[in-house]
Amino acid sequence: KKLIEFQKVNKTYFLGTQKIEALKDIDLTINNQDFIAIIGPSGSGKSSMLNLVSFIDEPSEGKILYGDINVENLKDKDIAQFRSNKIGIIFQNFNLIPVFSATENVALALQIQNGNNKENIEKSKELLNELGLGNHLNHRPNYLSGGQKQRVAIARALITNPEIIIADEPTSALDSKTGIEIIDLMKKINETKKTTFIFSTHDPRIINQVEKTIELIDGQIKK
Ligand code: ADP
Ligand code: ADP
Repeated sequence: KKLIEFQKVNKTYFLGTQKIEALKDIDLTINNQDFIAIIGPSGSGKSSMLNLVSFIDEPSEGKILYGDINVENLKDKDIAQFRSNKIGIIFQNFNLIPVFSATENVALALQIQNGNNKENIEKSKELLNELGLGNHLNHRPNYLSGGQKQRVAIARALITNPEIIIADEPTSALDSKTGIEIIDLMKKINETKKTTFIFSTHDPRIINQVEKTIELIDGQIKK
């Protein structure tokens, strides 16, 4: 089933009088439970594309559909709602809150969505346990390895049951072996919880493990 569709999407930035065409004429369909890697050299448009999928940015031209909804027609407040209900985001540098424990970092995502609720902490602990962090529930990010931090970030993205998780270079701050473990974990979640994933990567070892890749070159999808 189709989840997201890009129709003839362009993204243009202006730097003074200079026009940068970051994405050109992008047609793309993301289906439910896809596991997609976006690859391509630095500057090819990977971040621009993921920023459109996650509503961080909007297209200069063309349409993005979520199911049957044209994102262009949503009001800002609805976009915020849509995002917190349907989308999880994972960052290159984890973006965890340093003064919060692993559990609190995850619970915060639930609190933002559902308000203060006794169950937030319990649910967060359960999910962290499931992701192999049972011995680190009360640790702050500084006391966790890179791979452990990214697991906390995955738990934070996953705790609200999003339809899709979007990750810009989720392994680039990790050594290659840990990076592969993180992608394996994402794949396992993709299979067991049916969460759709779209992420960018440079790592050739990861690219070889992913069935569906989209290669960008100068803002266009390589056919
Ligand atoms: P990648 O993620 O593949 O490195 P990006 O999407 O970050 O590619 O960048 C694509 C092109 O758009 C590059 O030329 C980059 O410099 C430019 N670009 C990205 N973001 C901006 C911005 N906010 N303002 C101006 N130019 C930008
Ligand atoms: P990556 O290579 O990981 O995609 P970049 O270093 O290209 O990241 O971009 C990091 C941030 O800077 C992004 O938010 C992007 O939109 C912005 N950016 C990238 N290139 C430019 C640019 N030429 N001018 C202004 N902002 C830019």
